[in-house]
Amino acid sequence: MKIKILKYVLVLGLISVFTSCENEQIDIQEQNQNQEVPKYDETSLSDAFFGRKSSSDCHFEYEGSSGPEFWADLCGEDWKDCDGSVQSPINIITDSVLEDASINNINTNYTVSGTNIFNNGHTIQFNYDAGSSASLNNIDYNLLQFHFHTGSEHTVDGIRYPMEMHLVHQDPVTKLLAVIGIFFEEGKTNKELNRFMNHLPEHEDDHYVSSKKYHIKDMLPGDMDFYTYSGSLTTPACSEIVTWYVVKETIKASHGQLERFEQIMHENFRPAQGLNGRLVRAND
Ligand SMILES: [Zn+2]
Repeated sequence: MKIKILKYVLVLGLISVFTSCENEQIDIQEQNQNQEVPKYDETSLSDAFFGRKSSSDCHFEYEGSSGPEFWADLCGEDWKDCDGSVQSPINIITDSVLEDASINNINTNYTVSGTNIFNNGHTIQFNYDAGSSASLNNIDYNLLQFHFHTGSEHTVDGIRYPMEMHLVHQDPVTKLLAVIGIFFEEGKTNKELNRFMNHLPEHEDDHYVSSKKYHIKDMLPGDMDFYTYSGSLTTPACSEIVTWYVVKETIKASHGQLERFEQIMHENFRPAQGLNGRLVRAND
């Protein structure tokens, strides 16, 4: 009898040990979830602007029955802009680009940021610490985040690059966006990118946070001459609130680096949208 009671006590003790372990695990998970990860993804930015539903309420993909050609119908009225006439990305036809000397160069006022990388299920996004801005067409925009698409979303004379980086800026007053697009070409290893390669969050909702600082300027091409046009977010809700600055000079990344991004994000580019009479201009 005594042995039975002892066993009973032992089992109860074990259960309570397991339970408290489980509680600890839950605490850690909650801590992670509670960590301030500003969303700033393209969908929640349009959400803030129009009160439209973001991708957390409706679901989109880059292929199949939730692919780009169906985005406008996937979320009731909220994603109807995806069928709009001022959409992005576009194919830039260099022969039709209007060179306009009155457009100012990109004037950046960037500073360092801690490392905060987030996998939102559609892209790998680097949130950038507050305090960096760029003057685009005489408007000061704050840099919020940058993220990646494999292959490139914009094409130039029909050529698609293996990857495109989007630096998302917001006018603090009007909330309108300016996005700088940078093309990647395959070449030598990109040293700046290399420091993040082992920390790219592999699965949806994974994030990596470190106090280690880096400077976005180190990742940009030397020459920031660009094509510019009015367009939209390239993910639902496809809101037509973006002035695009697509930089002509490319940056390099190695085959392995580009492959790693594609492995995690898969193909996440939206096909070129109709120009519908829009003019693409260049700053020189
Ligand atoms: Zn993008």
